[in-house]
Amino acid sequence: MSAVISADLLRFVLVRTSHPGNIGSAARAMRTMGFSRMELVAPSRFPHAEASALAAGADDVLGSAGVHDELVDGLAGCSLALGLSARRRGVNLPEISPREAASQALAAVARGEQVALVFGNERTGLENEELARCHAMVRIPSVDDFSSLNLAQAVQVMAYEVRMAQLGDAPQAPPPREDAEPLADAAQMERFYEHLLQTLDDIDFHKGRAPTTIMLRLRKLFQRAQMDERELRMLHGIFADAQRMARLARGKSEE
Ligand code: SAH
Repeated sequence: MSAVISADLLRFVLVRTSHPGNIGSAARAMRTMGFSRMELVAPSRFPHAEASALAAGADDVLGSAGVHDELVDGLAGCSLALGLSARRRGVNLPEISPREAASQALAAVARGEQVALVFGNERTGLENEELARCHAMVRIPSVDDFSSLNLAQAVQVMAYEVRMAQLGDAPQAPPPREDAEPLADAAQMERFYEHLLQTLDDIDFHKGRAPTTIMLRLRKLFQRAQMDERELRMLHGIFADAQRMARLARGKSEE
């Protein structure tokens, strides 16, 4: 495995950050460990003098940071998203340690895939809907009665683990996948979930119930599957046929 991560393949995504100072400190934390790709999702204030002050020279990271309205845009192109959370949430994602996360991230990057480490708001953390866009939850094993690290310190821990994995004890890169079909990225997965929701509606799966819980469970199932683009096309095809049959059946019942 190459010791140098292609800088663009691993990104740190900060979601709904309240304090610009934390954005600056996070940039510094990343930069000390050799990472520079930061994506900001709906930051409350950015750019900001406090961010620049606390970046302490890591201005290049701030200067090139992407700013987005929606998490899905911050995850564009990523086939692996790991969400950092101090608390276990209802989403019930697989929970992994920072070390395991670093090793998974490096292995994916070694296969040329794009990876996101996702951090939540200082007060509320990552919402369930945000975690539902991740493939696993990473918990820094802090003590139960005081579990929440400062955002930039959580970034530092994660950046340090990836750096350590890079420097030495990284696992061997698994052999490249035999079928070179690229994994689905976040935007493709969103379109897939929209089609799934629409199809479930068309076949009257919900029967008047709110689809929220079932959609979160289905997201969990399909995120775990890490589908490639061919598999996604196959499922879109199945949904389209189910929708067509539902239309036919409706036509018949109205005859
Ligand atoms: N009360 C919030 C804490 C937010 S701290 C919560 O329960 O999640 C801001 C961000 O830092 C979190 O969203 C998370 O991304 C990261 N973070 C803080 N402490 C962490 C921990 N122990 N494990 C993993 N991530 C943590």
